[in-house]
Amino acid sequence: MPALPPPETLEELELPPRKASLATEVDVLVVGGGPAGLGAALGAAKTGASVALVERYGFLGGNATAALVMPLMSFHTQRPTFERQGVTTLLPSDHGPGHPVIAGVVLELLEALVEAGGAVPPTLGTGYVVPFDPEAFKVVALELLDEAGVRYLFHAFASDLYRGPEGIGVVFETKSGPLVIKAGTVVDCTGDGDIAVRAGARYEIGRDSDGLVQPMTLMFRMGEFSRTAFENYVKEHPDQWRGVHGLWDLIERASAAGDLDLAREDLLFFATPHERELSVNSTRITRVLGTDVWDLTYAETEGRRQFRQVVQFLRKYVPGFEEAYPIQSGVQVGVRETRRIVGEYYLTADDLLSARRFPDVIARGSYPVDIHNPNGKGTTLKRLPPDQAYDLPLRALMPQGVDRILVAGRCISGSHEAHSSYRVMPIAMATGQAAGVCAALATRDGRNPRDMDAAEVQDVLRRQGVNLGDNEARQ
Ligand SMILES: Cc1cc2nc3c(=O)[nH]c(=O)nc-3n(C[C@H](O)[C@H](O)[C@H](O)COP(=O)(O)OP(=O)(O)OC[C@H]3O[C@@H](n4cnc5c(N)ncnc54)[C@H](O)[C@@H]3O)c2cc1C
Repeated sequence: MPALPPPETLEELELPPRKASLATEVDVLVVGGGPAGLGAALGAAKTGASVALVERYGFLGGNATAALVMPLMSFHTQRPTFERQGVTTLLPSDHGPGHPVIAGVVLELLEALVEAGGAVPPTLGTGYVVPFDPEAFKVVALELLDEAGVRYLFHAFASDLYRGPEGIGVVFETKSGPLVIKAGTVVDCTGDGDIAVRAGARYEIGRDSDGLVQPMTLMFRMGEFSRTAFENYVKEHPDQWRGVHGLWDLIERASAAGDLDLAREDLLFFATPHERELSVNSTRITRVLGTDVWDLTYAETEGRRQFRQVVQFLRKYVPGFEEAYPIQSGVQVGVRETRRIVGEYYLTADDLLSARRFPDVIARGSYPVDIHNPNGKGTTLKRLPPDQAYDLPLRALMPQGVDRILVAGRCISGSHEAHSSYRVMPIAMATGQAAGVCAALATRDGRNPRDMDAAEVQDVLRRQGVNLGDNEARQ
């Protein structure tokens, strides 16, 4: 059955006015329960605010669970590298190990996951990536919210901003009818900036040259994988696998035989906490936008077509996968990039790659610029200098000209290139924590987030165990 096509012309229809029920009123309302939303809710609750977190799905985690994005990318600085025959290789740890630049609630989540047997702690051996189990993530995230006293509501989709005589709130579509939650300050952690846009915030989409965003990927888990057989293949073909990606020759062979038709030249997969399981990040759906329902529908069907092909390829061509089978694919296709809300500061690739410092730092990042080609094969990777990290300023979380709303996570203010780095989950969670703290203080003082003193936000963040780096270096 073909998908419903988009209408040729968009005819606007008037809807009858309607009423909504007031569900509650809180100091801080966090919309979206992904990494940024978790960080924001925990940051705000630890600052003493009453907090509600509202999520459209029936579980927490966002991309981490709904899209099966199962490793937290490294939040450690880059080790020195050397070049040999045109290949850049990381020097071993005795030449200067990477060190972590993010702490706070990211570490709390990590410790709880490891304690639950649901994650492998970051080491040199994992490249400082943290493989985790998405089911453990869902449970641990709920426990962290419970401990912090955050109240949550699931199965509620934020559709509009509520502006009443005495303040703002958000309208949610639910099975119980439309609900409003009023709040002193709203933290938009929808990944797409849904609430900020309803409030009138300016935003950008895609790269400057043609407006295209990074591709989507339907991720999936493979079980009954034989690590030994795969490692033996890699030992015999050392030029065919680099860390977490490769298989160029087999892909070429399968493509020539008509068994594979992918917009990638390599496959990318990650270990999980389970010996016989892998997380596969290898479908690529280009020229689609995650805020367009027609594109999303197409991406789900195209993603599933590629998913099937990749599974068949792995089983037929790749040693170690003969008995492997797909356990699960994402509840939804993974969306890397949509709107970037224009804020009081606009982060650029140059800020990141020169490890720029800002007086209003609220989080730090060290992950490279990492752009999956929006238009086809290839991935651009640009690393920070060894042992360096960049600052994320509080101003990048403040939408220009919009009151009482902060953004956090992948929709904060910056360029397409800068986004490709700060979008990863540890950084999203860290900007979430900062937005939550700022929102709690702003509500307490009856002020707009943009009028808050960054030093006060930093003080609270440090007391919550956040790593803001060395202040001297910013003078
Ligand atoms: C395929 C893929 C691979 C990736 N690989 C990695 C990786 O290996 N490691 C890594 O660290 N990062 C990776 N990333 C990036 C990372 O997953 C995301 O950028 C990160 O999850 C962003 O966090 P967030 O909280 O801002 O947004 P999301 O994770 O997108 O969370 C947004 C949440 O808001 C909810 N929501 C959205 N709109 C509404 C609404 N209107 N009402 C109510 N709820 C709403 C969503 O359901 C979701 O729970 C990858 C991303 C993709 C797509």
